[in-house]
Amino acid sequence: MAHKLDMKCPVCDSEHYEVFIEPWVNELNPAKLYGAASGMLGTQRLVTCVDCGMIFESPRYDAATIVKGYMSSKEGEHDSQYKMRVLSFYRSLKKNANSLPDPGAKILDIGTAGGAFLEAAMQYGYDAYGMEPSEDLVARGKTRGLQIEQGAIENHSFEQGKFDMVCLWDVIEHLPDPKTALVEIRELLKPNGILLINFPDIGTWQAKIARKRFWWILSVHLHHFTKKSIKDICSRTGFDVFHYQRYWQTLELGYLERMAVHYRIPLTAFITRFTPDFIQRIPIPYYASQTTALARVQK
Ligand SMILES: [Zn+2]
Repeated sequence: MAHKLDMKCPVCDSEHYEVFIEPWVNELNPAKLYGAASGMLGTQRLVTCVDCGMIFESPRYDAATIVKGYMSSKEGEHDSQYKMRVLSFYRSLKKNANSLPDPGAKILDIGTAGGAFLEAAMQYGYDAYGMEPSEDLVARGKTRGLQIEQGAIENHSFEQGKFDMVCLWDVIEHLPDPKTALVEIRELLKPNGILLINFPDIGTWQAKIARKRFWWILSVHLHHFTKKSIKDICSRTGFDVFHYQRYWQTLELGYLERMAVHYRIPLTAFITRFTPDFIQRIPIPYYASQTTALARVQK
């Protein structure tokens, strides 16, 4: 049985912290904590770094235990929204076109899940590759004809300097060691290459109002970044952030309802029971406190 370890700040390495949240659910089984992207509520002790303000889980399982949990992940529910995700990603690429590499560029999506971003990137004209730890999701992506390697960033087989852009869509908050991952990513990028990080932003006013009830506080989210801490971790690993944007996503109402039930938002179980099927299929654009940051390799 793995033991939980005390963590230092993933951004500034400080060992000084204040407690932000104490856990109220005692769940120690890594397969339950990390085996689904939607995660569990109330299992973590989160702390705030006294020196830089970063919020992260400590104590916590070691990286190998966590990644093993991710590898076992089966995500039928997440994958049910594949087409809507492709559309959201495609719109986001169009919206940011001026800041992104031109069509024809080689890009890598780390933690690509079922490959929705790869599909959008190919439609956009990119030569797109993906990595994903979950065997189940890699198999789904391959049946879609996408170029996906199974694994985490530490065990990739790509040559250095291959990519014009590397993307982390809702991934950096899951990584046990985000700083080491960013250093590896920098090696994979061409000079002047772009890093795209989309993350649940605990620095927005919505998050500040929600505080300890911020909806992205889940067992699978080891770290909670803000625009400031993304900038800090990027500059410490060889990147300059040059652009931030709110990320608007479009998913079907029925899926959003089921997620709201999972996150125990009051009354949603009742409402969901009485929503007819055709209404559940309606696409809903929404902003849930996610931010996209773009950074460039430092000269
Ligand atoms: Zn810190």
